[in-house]
Amino acid sequence: MSSQPYHFKSSPAWEQSHPLLKFMRQQNPVLWLNEHYREVTDKPLVLSFADIEEASNRLQRFAPYMQKVFLDTRANKGIIESPLLAISKLKQLLVDRYATPLPGDLWLKCDSHLPISGSVKARGGVYEIIKHAETIALGSGLLKRSDDYSSIDSPLFKALFAQHSIVVGSTGNLGLSIGIMSAQLGFQVTVHMSSDARAWKKKLLREQGVQVVEYEEDYSKAVEQGRKEAQNRQNCHFVDDENSQDLFLGYAVAGLRLKQQLADKQIKVDAQHPLFVYLPCGVGGAPGGICFGLKQVFGEHVHCFFAEPTAAPCMLLGMYTELQDAICVQDIGLSGRTCADGLAVGRPSAFVGRFMQNMLSGIYTISDDEIYQLLALLKDSEGIELEPSALAGVIGMQRMISQGTAYIDRQSLGSVSHNITHIAWATGGGMLPKEEREAYYSTGKALLG
Ligand SMILES: *Cc1c(COP(=O)(O)O)cnc(C)c1O
Repeated sequence: MSSQPYHFKSSPAWEQSHPLLKFMRQQNPVLWLNEHYREVTDKPLVLSFADIEEASNRLQRFAPYMQKVFLDTRANKGIIESPLLAISKLKQLLVDRYATPLPGDLWLKCDSHLPISGSVKARGGVYEIIKHAETIALGSGLLKRSDDYSSIDSPLFKALFAQHSIVVGSTGNLGLSIGIMSAQLGFQVTVHMSSDARAWKKKLLREQGVQVVEYEEDYSKAVEQGRKEAQNRQNCHFVDDENSQDLFLGYAVAGLRLKQQLADKQIKVDAQHPLFVYLPCGVGGAPGGICFGLKQVFGEHVHCFFAEPTAAPCMLLGMYTELQDAICVQDIGLSGRTCADGLAVGRPSAFVGRFMQNMLSGIYTISDDEIYQLLALLKDSEGIELEPSALAGVIGMQRMISQGTAYIDRQSLGSVSHNITHIAWATGGGMLPKEEREAYYSTGKALLG
């Protein structure tokens, strides 16, 4: 753990200059609007549209392989993609429950049900591993770019990859995605799991031959230990969730895909028809990458908001104070412990907050109780079951309509606000065992009273 640079907890002056901090410290839900949104700077971005296209093409090259080894990718010809569903019944429940009208449509982007690992990590995690595998395979001379990549599913390639290892630190889902993909290719793989990681995820990985190392501490510790292990090994690739541009680009491909998906449903995105997207945020890579991809495709017509638990608002803390990864939620007295295990991250990515500086519209926080309630409401209304982290985005529409007037006004969207398409990004839950689903649901039902 890096040493704490300041003692924010005991600084009333700081809370005066940053009034949201007090609410955050007390774990009250907040909505922060980014003052730097769309500010024009001369700093060039380190990643471009061409980088996203390259990632998309690489995923396409691997599609024949994916189809061959992962049956659940077959329906989509080896492309890892998820449905976009209208959730108007849930919307009606929200209207009743919060007693606010909700003009506009609410959709759920079901990355919770992505093939391979049942979470948004099947985008970034799988992409980083296939990129690494492709580099090794091309370098070995056993593969050419023009080949049919289904040939990679062979003892020859497995023996090649077995000489290499992969290491990652995770709260659970990244470990699942990296572990499953790496083991399938034949890599030796070690996943360092934080205390938040659910037992069933560790068990599933061990069954796949993945080495799982468990920690009593949080995500930052698991990542740090993974990084250390990788440094001491030859032919070892560390998947760096706090810094990786490959993970980020794998997520960003979602932007290109959503464009097509919306077009297929004849949903317009333009000045008259804005798009609001609500993305659950942990360390920031998944929501940041998706936001970047969407911005490349829809520009000013898409408005992205991150959603974080009140107990672990690390990206909000980093961006609001502009200290980025030099501050963590423990510095303001928060535990970082939340039922939203995929978002249980105390310190944000070193690069995502900076990268998002002029791209992200805002961030809101949501309590664990509200997450559980939404989980039960979604199941009751739509029959869709998600893991807690994935519900954080579901309240975004309600929040923006009830509390986001300042944003709507600032962006001059008042006259078109009834045309806004709202998308809640559902990030995980597709692989939850039945007992886990039932336990989450009954907690939510009890809280609804
Ligand atoms: C990882 C994860 C997120 C957030 O992704 P980050 O890259 O950590 O910000 C959101 N939801 C679920 C279910 C996740 O597993």
